[in-house]
Amino acid sequence: MKFLSGAIHLLIAAFLTALTQVGGVLYIICLWLFRKKGWKKYAYFLGIYLLFTFVFIPLLAPSVGRVRIENSETIRPRNYFYMLTNRNYVTPELNEALKQVSKELQIHYPNLELAYLDANFPFIDGFPLLPHLSHNDGKKIDLCFFYQKNDSLTNKKPSWSGYGAYVAPNQNEWNQTIACKNKGHWQYDFTKYITFGTWNAELNLAQQPTKELLKNILKHPKTSKVFIEPHLKDRLGVQHAKLRFHGCQAVRHDDHIHLQVQ
Ligand SMILES: [Zn+2]
Repeated sequence: MKFLSGAIHLLIAAFLTALTQVGGVLYIICLWLFRKKGWKKYAYFLGIYLLFTFVFIPLLAPSVGRVRIENSETIRPRNYFYMLTNRNYVTPELNEALKQVSKELQIHYPNLELAYLDANFPFIDGFPLLPHLSHNDGKKIDLCFFYQKNDSLTNKKPSWSGYGAYVAPNQNEWNQTIACKNKGHWQYDFTKYITFGTWNAELNLAQQPTKELLKNILKHPKTSKVFIEPHLKDRLGVQHAKLRFHGCQAVRHDDHIHLQVQ
């Protein structure tokens, strides 16, 4: 019985580590520190986790070269999950680039907010933010497209997580997903399972602001690579040496933009 509960606690700790980086360690420490407190140890863990997430980690991360993304009127996480799980850390340079890009965008689109998805964890270069193996150094972030309903622009997005609701290729457009899956890359569209709910099915890609966002990102001097799906590159008519195809070993990028900086 003891062995079984130990194994379950370890599994929970591993899950929390993959989800939040620091959660697993804090969980084990709290189980040990408050081992005589019965069920209350879980409440202590929750309180301590929140204290670390919203107070201590933002103070500690800059000492290892990362900062929590500064939310503002122009930039926000897709939802609170990304803040609650510490998936919102970047290098100061990327933070600055995001600020500039989102402010430029607001000149033409004052009501649009730049929504971000997974960025990086606060600590340790090389520690991957699953399921993205490359989001491990503070220099990567995923950004939402912009959408419109009928003809009016909106900050709504078609899925809860921000992933997995695709702006799929039309019949006459190149279909990279089919090409990759035919080559055996079964994982290429696995993000369809991590929408955690889709709605606003009537939303369409807002091409002009999404194109402007892409262009602003591409002209920023810190930008090193940007990934979107090939058919969207064609549809939006954006060509740039830094705008690349990510490869079939990754996942499809017609639900978000991947940005990485130097
Ligand atoms: Zn990414």
